[in-house]
Formats: sequence, C-alpha cells, structure tokens
Amino acid sequence: MERNNIRYIKGIGPKREKIFNRLGIYTIRDLLYYFPLRYEDRRNIKKINQLKEDEVSLVEAKVLARNLKPFKFRPHWQRRVKDNIFEIAVEDDSGILMCVWFNQGYLKDYIKVGDRVIIYGKVKRYKGKLQMVSPEFELLDEKDSSLNIGRIVGFYRLKEGLTQKNIRKVIYFCLDNFGNKVSDPLPYYIRKKNNLSNIYHSLKNIHFPDSLNEALFARRRFIFEELFFSQILVYLRKASYRVKKSISLICSPKFISQLKNSLPFSLTSSQEKAIEEIINDLAKPYPMHRLLQGDVGSGKTVVACFALAVAVKCGCQVAFMVPTEVLAYQHLMTFKKLFKGFGFRIEVLTSSLTQKSKKKISYDLKNAKIDIILGTHSLIEESISFKKLGLVVIDEQHKFGVAQRALLSKKARGYFPHCLVMSATPIPRSLALSLYGDLDFSVIQELPPHRKQPKTIWIEEDKRRWVYDFLRDKLKENRQVYIIYPVIDESNDSELKSLTQMYRIVKREFKDFRVDVFHGRMKSGEKERIIKEFRDNTIDILIATTVIEVGIDIENATVMVVENPERFGLSQLHQLRGRIRRSIYQPYFILISSSKISDNARRRLEVISKVSDGFKVAEEDLKLRGPGDFFGHLQSGFPQLKIANPLEDLAILKRVRKCAYEVIKKDPLLKESFHRCIKEHIGFWRGGFK
Ligand code: ADP
Ligand code: MG
Repeated sequence: MERNNIRYIKGIGPKREKIFNRLGIYTIRDLLYYFPLRYEDRRNIKKINQLKEDEVSLVEAKVLARNLKPFKFRPHWQRRVKDNIFEIAVEDDSGILMCVWFNQGYLKDYIKVGDRVIIYGKVKRYKGKLQMVSPEFELLDEKDSSLNIGRIVGFYRLKEGLTQKNIRKVIYFCLDNFGNKVSDPLPYYIRKKNNLSNIYHSLKNIHFPDSLNEALFARRRFIFEELFFSQILVYLRKASYRVKKSISLICSPKFISQLKNSLPFSLTSSQEKAIEEIINDLAKPYPMHRLLQGDVGSGKTVVACFALAVAVKCGCQVAFMVPTEVLAYQHLMTFKKLFKGFGFRIEVLTSSLTQKSKKKISYDLKNAKIDIILGTHSLIEESISFKKLGLVVIDEQHKFGVAQRALLSKKARGYFPHCLVMSATPIPRSLALSLYGDLDFSVIQELPPHRKQPKTIWIEEDKRRWVYDFLRDKLKENRQVYIIYPVIDESNDSELKSLTQMYRIVKREFKDFRVDVFHGRMKSGEKERIIKEFRDNTIDILIATTVIEVGIDIENATVMVVENPERFGLSQLHQLRGRIRRSIYQPYFILISSSKISDNARRRLEVISKVSDGFKVAEEDLKLRGPGDFFGHLQSGFPQLKIANPLEDLAILKRVRKCAYEVIKKDPLLKESFHRCIKEHIGFWRGGFK
C-alpha cells in the first residue's frame, strides 16, 4: 500500500502529481516521509480587542471590506508604475483590524469579502490604530479548519502550484487512510531500547503534533531512523570487505627504512603513523580500505608511496587514479625521483594518449610489464586489465564517485586489491565516521615544518591597482603568481571576469614579465609544457582556471589572485589556497570580489579570510551548505540525509552507530525474522538488497 503511486490519492490529479514528483515524492510513503521544515503554534487565537502593539499574534476573522489603491506616499519621481497597496478590514466578535500589503495587488484575487481568514503577523500602530503589515494569511473553508488553525501546524518546502494547505490536506488524508498500514522499518526491540515511538505514532506527530514536544520526539525518531540506515549500509559494506580475500603484502623493515632514508626530508610524526597503519593493513589477507585524510599540502603523496613500494616489492601491480592529467604527470615526476634506482616501471595513462600508446600500455599491464600505472578515469575503461593488481590508490577522492572506485577495484581477478583513498577535504571525525564509516582512517594532523600560513586578503574591484602594484613587487623578488578566473570565455554576465578577456589586460599591464595561460580546454601536450615552464620559472604569471585546484605543487609560486571568488565554493577556495602553501616564502592569497555579491557568498569570503585550518573550513562549509548538499558534494552515492544533521545530531549518531554495529555483528546477513523489516527497507532504499 505504502508503495502505491500518489496519483491514486484523492485530491492529486496528474497535474499535482508532477509537482509532487518535483519535490521527490512519488509514493504514499514518500509523501508521509516528507517532513515539515518548521512549525507554528496556532493554538492561541487572539480576539482582536486583545491585540497588543509589537506582539506577533494570530487572529481568526471574517473579511468585511477590501481595497486596492495606488501607493501615494513616495514622491512621484520615485514611483514605480506598479506601486499599490492592498488593504482589508477583518472582523471577529470583538472588533475590527486593518491589514495591508504593499505591491501585492494580486491578493485581490484570493481574498474576497465574506471570506473567513486566519491572519498571522506582528501588530503595529498606524495613525493611532492597530494594524498588521504583510501578515501571513490563509483562507479557511469549514472543512479544513481543523488542519490549519487551532493547532500546531507544520510548514513544508513547496513548489509553485502547491500550497501549505494542499499538502497538509493530502498528508492528513494519507495518514488517516494508510498510516496504520505503513510498515515500521525499525524493529521493536531497537525502538524500545532507544525510546522511540512506533511509525504510525511518529508520522502523526511529526505532521500534526499536539505539542511541540511531541513533534520533537517524533523528529528524533526519524533522525535516528535515517542515520540508522545510513550506518547499516556502512557496516554491511565493511562486513563484506572482511570476507574477501586479498594478497597479503609483506615487506622487510629494512626496505622501509631504506626508503625513509632516501627521502630529502624527515617525515612528520603523523606521516610516520599513517605509513605504519597502512603497512599493517597491507599485510592482512583481506583487503585494506583506508582513507588517508590531511589538509592540502600535508604530504599525503609520500605516504602513499610507501604503500606503492611495498606492493611492487611483493610483485604486485598498482593502479593510482587521479582526477587530472596534470596531476598524473606531476606524480610521475615525484615517483621517478623517489623510486630512483629501484627499477620500478611506471607509466601514465590518460585519454589524450594516441591509440597506439594506449594499446601498448594496455598490453603491458595485462602482461605485468608495468608496475605502477598512474592515470585518470581512463584507468577504469573496460579495455584495461591487470595481471596482478594488488593495490589501488585514489587521490583526491572527492572528485570520484563510489561506483568509479569500485570499478577500479574489480580489475583484480579472483581476489580483491587493497585500497587506499586520499582526501584533502578533512572533516571532523564524527562526520567522517558517518560518511566513511566503512573505511579505516589515517589522519595527517600537521603540515610539514617551516611552512608559512598564507595571508588572505579580500578586496573589491576598486582596489585592483593596488593588487597589480603588489604583484609587481613580488615578481621583482622573483616569486611567481597564479591568477584564477571562474570562466574561460567572455559571457554576458558583466560581473564575471573571464580568462580570455583578462589575459589581454594582464599581459599589457605586466609587459616586462612572462605571462601565459592554462586551462582545461588546452591540448594535453600544451598543458604539460606550460606546467613545466611554470615549474622551471620561465613563466612569471600563470593565468588559469580551477584546473590547477587539484594537487599541483610548485614551490616558488607563492602568490595567488582569485577573481570573482564569490563564484567559488568554500572548500574549493581552500584547495586553491593550498597550492601556495608549500614554500618557505610568505604566501599571499588575494581575493578580488565584485561589489555585488549575495549574503551567502559574503559569508564564505569572510570565513576563508579568517580561517586557515582545513578542518574548520570544512565545518563552516557544512554549516553554510546544509548537510544534504555538503555530503552530496563530498561523496556522490551517499544516501541523501533529509532530516538528520550529523554535526548537530552527534549524540544520536553515536547511539545509532553502536546499535547498527550490534545488529550487523549479530546478524551480518540480516536473516533473523526480527530484522526482516531492516532488510526490506534497505531493499526499497536502493532498489534491491545486494
Ligand atoms: P598533499 O597532501 O596535498 O597531496 P603533497 O603530498 O603534494 O601534499 O605534498 C606537498 C609537498 O610537501 C611536496 O612537495 C612534498 O614533497 C612535501 N613534503 C611532504 N612531506 C614532507 C615533510 N615531512 N617535510 C617536508 N616536506 C614534505
Ligand atoms: Mg595531493
């Protein structure tokens, strides 16, 4: 029943069905699980003669008169054609109240004389009389009154063509007719233990609560439920790893210390610890699934190199996947330097290679003539297979989906490769657990020593001259500069600076310096050449798009200017800033924003100007984006959270994790009859239990 299409519900025709679909509501269950965003207490209806100035109040009354007239109070030269004022007078058995709306003349089509209305707003005094300005209102017809007044009412996120009253009505209808037939996805023993009410009761109270406390209690249950299922999935995945077989990769401690000694620097203590954890994992006969977290520039690559070396030493191949071609070549350089004299055969595979080279690589991989293959998405193409793939490393994992990672791991035949994923968007541990709970973590806490924090300077367009003078000073000190643009080509958007347009201007401005461009649409040989020249310091200013955001590591480039930073996300800005955090010279991160920016963008720029720690930036990002969007952007394929916020609901999350862990430990295949509800619910959740 609950899986039935909403089309068959009374009050939903084909047209409404489409609107509901746009809200993600297809079935009766979806509808019942569409929760209010907030509540309003409409139990306390006031009599008009009891209203007090400045109090937010609720009145139920009848429309006595209405009037739409031009708005005369502004001087005529300021008056826009549409200025108008719509007034109504309403009456209850105690008195009369005026309500006014400015420039909402269309209201005259909604509110008619004789209508019963409910009006909610702040009471003000105007010319000695009480009135409400732009109050919220609802028309009442007798039948619905019990859903919309005299109680606590929920407010839902809506789309055009649907009103709060509409949605309350259909939800009420569904609850009334099918509510007690909805199956409870949480087993009774779990509800009892965690003091959660049953599904029917909770649905009723989350939509039509008798008190705010009841609503809160019901919300708590659904938060629990949502987190519970996300964690059950996490543990199921984790349990499935343990029963898989891998080649255990064991290497002599002597070799490890030899590799350590060959490094041009000494490792930080968290790097040491991460390496140890990884080496331990690799020795196990089941696959490693480890996430290496660390802020941009914390030195994750070198840690991964130890895993690489162990795997190759043990006669296995390694697939190392990166999001961009440039990064693949940069890593190639690093690996060649680090593994000098080891005789490892390392190649790069990207989509821009010729067919012939691709064929050769594919042949060599199949025949184990390559030890380490560095590549972009091309690695997961069907034509690529390995003779003995022992380890998979994914760099900048947020750029890949869960599915892509799995595809790469499937390329090992008969056993599972060990898997190391690396992320430069460090998130608080509690969140990491809810998101990547199926992985083990290693965290690099500190940056390598002698790194300087970038000074972040945020200015507006009118200070552009100052920026150019500043850049000139730094260039004269022989430093190099990035200037980042949000788009390549000029557009109609006059607020938006483009790379092409600004290249001409910057070139003219900095005649004595070498300026060049770098963006994703360039041919790959060209890209490599530019990066090499920039690395060799034969280019002073590199005008680029965010393709340089991931991983590029050029020490002498210590100044970065970002144009239209308001168009970038918070973690993207942090990533960009990470590019210039690798030097012993003081780095500068300069943001030139347009003067017209949204409040949210302003907030982002404030955060990036003040906060330098990657963990804190991520936390702020989460607050600004909201959990759904934040998790979606961090990890595609993660179930969308609708009601839970792992950051705020930390206490519940802890309980939930324990509870989900116990369930899977006791009953890993969910075979027990009292766990059938869980199994069924997961099946519905992702279209079939696997
Ligand atoms: P990320 O963690 O962002 O991937 P990288 O691995 O690219 O960072 O490292 C950034 C730079 O720091 C590289 O040039 C690397 O050689 C250097 N580096 C890594 N570890 C250390 C260390 N312990 N001491 C000094 N420099 C280091
Ligand atoms: Mg990196």
